[in-house]
Amino acid sequence: MQKQLSLKVKPQEANDTSILIDYIATETGKSKASISGFYKLKQSIDARSARQIWINITLLAFIDEPFSNRPLDVIHFKEVTHSSKQVIIVGAGPAGLFAALQLLELGIKPIVFERGKEVRARRRDLAVLNKEGIINPESNYCFGEGGAGTYSDGKLYTRSNKRGNINRILNLFVQFGAEEKILYEAHPHIGTNKLPDIITAMREAIIGYGGAILFEQKVTDLLLKDSSIIGVKTANGVTHHADAVILATGHSARDIFELLHEKQILIEAKPFALGVRIEHPQALIDSIQYNLPTSTSLQRGEFLPPASYSLVEQVNGRGVFSFCMCPGGIIAPAATAANELVVNGWSPSKRNNPYSNSGMVVTVDEKDAMDYFKKQAAKRLPLTETTPFEAKGQRSTDNPLLLLQFQEAIEQRCYELGGGKFVAPAQRMEDFCVGKVSTNFPTCSYVPGIKATNLGEALPPFIQKTLQMGFKAFGKKMKGYYTNEAIVVATESRTSSPVRIPRDHDSLQHPQIKNLYPCGEGAGYAGGIVSAAMDGERVALMISGTL
Ligand SMILES: Cc1cc2nc3c(=O)[nH]c(=O)nc-3n(C[C@H](O)[C@H](O)[C@H](O)COP(=O)(O)OP(=O)(O)OC[C@H]3O[C@@H](n4cnc5c(N)ncnc54)[C@H](O)[C@@H]3O)c2cc1C
Repeated sequence: MQKQLSLKVKPQEANDTSILIDYIATETGKSKASISGFYKLKQSIDARSARQIWINITLLAFIDEPFSNRPLDVIHFKEVTHSSKQVIIVGAGPAGLFAALQLLELGIKPIVFERGKEVRARRRDLAVLNKEGIINPESNYCFGEGGAGTYSDGKLYTRSNKRGNINRILNLFVQFGAEEKILYEAHPHIGTNKLPDIITAMREAIIGYGGAILFEQKVTDLLLKDSSIIGVKTANGVTHHADAVILATGHSARDIFELLHEKQILIEAKPFALGVRIEHPQALIDSIQYNLPTSTSLQRGEFLPPASYSLVEQVNGRGVFSFCMCPGGIIAPAATAANELVVNGWSPSKRNNPYSNSGMVVTVDEKDAMDYFKKQAAKRLPLTETTPFEAKGQRSTDNPLLLLQFQEAIEQRCYELGGGKFVAPAQRMEDFCVGKVSTNFPTCSYVPGIKATNLGEALPPFIQKTLQMGFKAFGKKMKGYYTNEAIVVATESRTSSPVRIPRDHDSLQHPQIKNLYPCGEGAGYAGGIVSAAMDGERVALMISGTL
């Protein structure tokens, strides 16, 4: 007999097989000897009670019958070397890779062009960026094999459950080497140290079945005939032809947005969010979330994971929210060019760093960007012949790159304020809220270093003020969150794409260009690893005619 049971256990019991078997025996009235095994279906933490933290587990127990392992839906791929249909995929991020795997399953040959390097070589560029403050604009935290998702926290949680089959994506991650626990944990994550092997296994499958992944091959042009795309041109001047092109270049490929605009291929400005990354001591976040006595030493014990949080508030009609929270994580320099400062966060699978970081961002729309540029222009008067167009506040509201230019302007201002080499401007949280330059800092995980500044010199007032009010409001929701022990680091600006590449709702093709499939986060159809992967699969299914 197989029986599904829901248990509420203490943290130290949750991974102890013999204790769980005791529980199963008690719940079912069967002897321990009759229970051949179990596997978990769901697991989540309930920390609402101040007295006891509980772990809720749903499991499938095997009683009076042999145990059988969790059935994994293994996906089988087809040999595509001689496939009559070929699809070019631009970008080897989650959208591009999962599109390629889906095409393989359907017997269509994927040819992936990736501007960055393969995952191991990419790691060396990240080391140089962190230690020497030198960026490779083609190989960094956003560009390279696996895309922005590779050297990340690898959180696999998404709310976009209507956009595709989340379980299928998680199963595929397990098929390529992720731990099975991502299939039952409420907030699964993989970790920076484990993702590269998984991405490598995906690449080996794509190549092994006859597809191709070409590294250090930046796509610089789209080959159009009449109103169809017939291929792409790469930076070395070589042209490549295919039946369809999936454009999965992510939110940081500004040159692709510019190329589309230049070629008069329709793109649209898309509201996004911008702000800062906050770093607290992990022990403080643990003490708040797990109701522990405040302490700077780690107190949650070995059975609970480092605590996380998710915060959202409306301040004067504007949203401010936490984004991509990394418990036990590190703040990373996530820029893609030499003169811009962008931060994001990652964590290893154990999440065992003593820091907790999270993006704290404010929604931004076109009107905000227009107002910002107008104020900048007013400050810089008198204007001269050589004053850049945008500094004169002459942007029109139908400029699809307006929000991208706003994002870029803030990033560049933050770089200047940090003084170069990716040193990030920063303030303690309470100092930030009163506009005081901090005199010192607690240890910060951001390797290139932080510099005490007034972030109001970089962030537009509407963002600064909304964050200030947001932090205070969050401090009421989470007692202890609003503290000068927290560091505010600028700027968290690559939260989602500031541009949308439109596509037809039914065919998923660009409305003007036949066989061009905008895909993933950069095109505006995903926000995170899993949703980008699902979008990649969706587009591949559409191309094969099976959606
Ligand atoms: C540090 C960090 C941590 C993150 N943590 C998480 C997390 O824990 N969980 C989560 O869900 N999300 C996380 N994200 C966001 C997540 O990585 C993205 O949402 C996701 O990767 C988007 O997938 P994508 O395939 O659409 O685009 P991307 O991952 O951005 O991939 C686009 C790819 O296209 C390539 N490319 C761009 N232009 C060209 C060109 N012209 N020619 C050829 N190739 C090109 C790029 O090099 C890149 O590899 C994190 C991001 C960062 C930077």
